[in-house]
Amino acid sequence: MNSKKTVIVGSGLSALMMARMIKKYRDPMADIVILEKEEQVGGQYGSINYGQYGYFDVGMHIIYETCIPEIDNLFEDLLTEEEWIILDNNYKDIAGIYVNGRLQTDTPYVDLRDSSTEKWREYVAELFQVIRSGKECQLPEEPNSYDLLVNHFGKRITDEIFVPILEKLYFKHPSELAEIANKFTTINRLALFDSATMLDLMKSDEIRARICYPDQLSMPQYRQNTQKGFYPREYGMFRVINRFRKQLEMEGVTFQTSCSITNLQLDQQTITSIEVKGNNGNVESLPVKELFWTAGLPGLAATLGIPVKDLTFEKKKTEDVYVNLLFDKKPSMGELYYFYPFDTEFRSFRVTSYTNYCPSAAGERGYPVCVEFWAREEDSKTEENLILQACEELKTFGVIDDSYQLLFGKVERKMAGFPLPSVTNISTMNTINERISKAGITNLTATGVLTGKNVFFIKDVLIDTYNKVISNRPMQSISNFKNAI
Ligand SMILES: Cc1cc2nc3c(=O)[nH]c(=O)nc-3n(C[C@H](O)[C@H](O)[C@H](O)COP(=O)(O)OP(=O)(O)OC[C@H]3O[C@@H](n4cnc5c(N)ncnc54)[C@H](O)[C@@H]3O)c2cc1C
Repeated sequence: MNSKKTVIVGSGLSALMMARMIKKYRDPMADIVILEKEEQVGGQYGSINYGQYGYFDVGMHIIYETCIPEIDNLFEDLLTEEEWIILDNNYKDIAGIYVNGRLQTDTPYVDLRDSSTEKWREYVAELFQVIRSGKECQLPEEPNSYDLLVNHFGKRITDEIFVPILEKLYFKHPSELAEIANKFTTINRLALFDSATMLDLMKSDEIRARICYPDQLSMPQYRQNTQKGFYPREYGMFRVINRFRKQLEMEGVTFQTSCSITNLQLDQQTITSIEVKGNNGNVESLPVKELFWTAGLPGLAATLGIPVKDLTFEKKKTEDVYVNLLFDKKPSMGELYYFYPFDTEFRSFRVTSYTNYCPSAAGERGYPVCVEFWAREEDSKTEENLILQACEELKTFGVIDDSYQLLFGKVERKMAGFPLPSVTNISTMNTINERISKAGITNLTATGVLTGKNVFFIKDVLIDTYNKVISNRPMQSISNFKNAI
């Protein structure tokens, strides 16, 4: 019998988790079909197969617990305890930055301890002045990135330290960037004091929110939360995705890949069927019970025929690519899983050494490194040049030197890069969300990246997905949405 389907569009981690959540917490009998436009499932959590050169993840992706057991159990039990690498305590996330011509491995926050005594005093004085004045309450209703930084650190630190970093990343002054820009990279703290001093100062939440303990690996345990990161022991996030798919198929979930949605039929405000075109050109109509959309709000608006042409989408000034490289020796970046280059001249957004959190990433093939590379207008975009430029930057960072041999290099252009977190773009996304909500479709739920305020990282996406699944309430009304963000 052609029963009404619970349709999930997109097959990234949030879609797979959603399917499990629906089965477990909403309707065990749900007849779920997952529709994916690409050949592979997994979205950002898939891996790329380079044959003899092995697999590469799509940049740095570890699954972090949400600390809500109802969510975390659903992926933790996909692999056995032996099959997971569990990253906890100080090893949960080891990040660094390259700033002021130096690779910082001790802390991912800008270290100002080497500033001149005069500068250091100015920064400390300003920061403590901000803390004492309790400026928090003076923020405008919808603060931008700059408002928040000034409120958090004071104007001098913001202008001298953080404005150049954000301008390097997005080619915009932070007054044109939304709050979420401050969450993408490690710009919410500074290193100003040595460990012994910080042990004492950290007792103040206000100080701890702004000044970091300067050595991430020796940071005292009592200041940690219990959140853990999960990565498969055998390298490749696709292993989790494959296991996920198998598990869901055993539970009766079907997958259709390489397909596109050509039409949605509505009866008043209820979606009744969805037309799906397979890669053989055949169009099939599926009767719909509920539709869950995890594939981005602009695509949903287009499918629903909701106009968005009057809205402004600001494009990034960079072309974001993944430069995947294999070296004959271990990259020299201490224990860092990844680091962000903050100095203006570099195109590298993030450098990930997979071997540092998953030793089996190396093996006989060599040591894999991913450079998320934001090529500028003036750069040559040939694969050869992008690889060359990425390697030159790695040399400047001290990650490799002339004795390293490049065994393999490939540029990936297809996968999504970081969105431009401008005030305009976030406002556009909110407007699209409002317009979709206004349509009042009773059996539609949208989740995933940027469907709510600051929903981007996987932890927040999964919490948002879970809340929507268990609330049993499709697309929230505008007023509810506004309250939620
Ligand atoms: C460059 C980058 C770096 C990131 N780094 C981190 C990080 O370090 N830590 C972290 O926690 N999070 C990170 N994130 C965020 C993380 O990737 C997301 O939270 C996560 O991928 C969300 O999962 P998702 O399933 O919602 O989306 P996705 O993984 O993007 O999956 C969406 C799926 O929908 C499919 N799709 C799109 N349109 C259609 C359509 N019309 N029809 C059918 N299918 C469609 C896509 O092909 C894709 O498979 C990063 C994101 C990006 C872009």
